[in-house]
Amino acid sequence: MEIRIRGVSKYYYSEGKTIKALDDVNLVIPANRIFTLLGPSGSGKTTLLRCIVGLELPDTGEISIGDELVWSKDKNICVPPERRGLGMVFQTYAIWPHMNVFDNVAYPLQVRDVAKDVIRERVAQTLRFVRLEGFERRPATKLSGGQQQRVALARALVAEPKVILFDEPLSNLDAKLREETRKELRAFLGKLQITAVYVTHDRVEALALSDSIAVMRAGQIIETGTPQKIYFDADHRFVADFIGRANLVKATVRAEEGGYTVVDSTLGRIVCQQRDLPVGGEATLCIRPEFIRIVRGEAEAHGNLVNGRIESLVFVGEAYEAEIRVGEERLLAKIDPEAKLREGDAVSFTLAPAHCLLVAI
Ligand code: ADP
Ligand code: MG
Repeated sequence: MEIRIRGVSKYYYSEGKTIKALDDVNLVIPANRIFTLLGPSGSGKTTLLRCIVGLELPDTGEISIGDELVWSKDKNICVPPERRGLGMVFQTYAIWPHMNVFDNVAYPLQVRDVAKDVIRERVAQTLRFVRLEGFERRPATKLSGGQQQRVALARALVAEPKVILFDEPLSNLDAKLREETRKELRAFLGKLQITAVYVTHDRVEALALSDSIAVMRAGQIIETGTPQKIYFDADHRFVADFIGRANLVKATVRAEEGGYTVVDSTLGRIVCQQRDLPVGGEATLCIRPEFIRIVRGEAEAHGNLVNGRIESLVFVGEAYEAEIRVGEERLLAKIDPEAKLREGDAVSFTLAPAHCLLVAI
């Protein structure tokens, strides 16, 4: 089910101050995909999710879910949360410790007066789906963190929602379990084919899980796109910087040439991915550490050639993280651990134009 959000703003009033938690948000969340709201803490992700669910009432705008208008300030429409057909999974496991697994999952059906045998069947089916069959009688507290989160997922799914919403559901799990659960969740949601709205501040989670990502800052959607678009080809400096590690270098646009944009920067003249920017204007050159290619031998200089010096090298297992000094600039680079380099070495590296991204300052 598609979700459409038009002109939604939300203010909080606290200690005599007005906080603009959502600032005229316009967004279409496509049906049957995993859509992620990504942004730093305080950017309004939870508020937007709660407005979709109906736990929070916006001050302006409209929200529709599928064909149904569930909120309209002007038309005075407010469909209550329990009639919006949604399932939700929160950051804290939000399962009831005094209940066993069966009762936790059955709860949403019990409050709807569903017949007992139907409940038994639906719960069994949903527990099979999240791979917790056989755990029905287990007290919720006697489960691992990952299992508890699967119970929460089962409970959100048992009433067959049209849309499922997640608010940082993995942030209480340790790193390894978080990665496993993320993969599982992706597989579960892929099988389900429902609209999923996922909130996180974790860029890797967003990249790994989403079909598309909306990046938020200060109550606004800054940019929306596929993970690849957001990572490789962001339009905004904030987005390029937030979604991954990036070297950001000041540049001046010099020319449009043969499908590329050419800039001058502290790294010298650099041929970049084409961008519509005025010649003579300022821009930011964005280079990800993994696209800095150290030249070994002389022959292989493709792309922009830059000379520098290794200032520091840190071994992180799959690579060396190097700081390369070029004039006043220090660039973070990810280098092959086989490269025989030492701190202080002079190096040349190339930057493929396709990976030299220009963003507005
Ligand atoms: P996020 O989920 O991205 O971390 P939130 O949506 O929780 O952000 O918060 C957005 C802004 O609204 C923040 O500045 C936060 O402090 C503020 N805020 C959220 N909830 C309330 C509330 N109930 N009362 C006052 N301010 C709030
Ligand atoms: Mg939040």
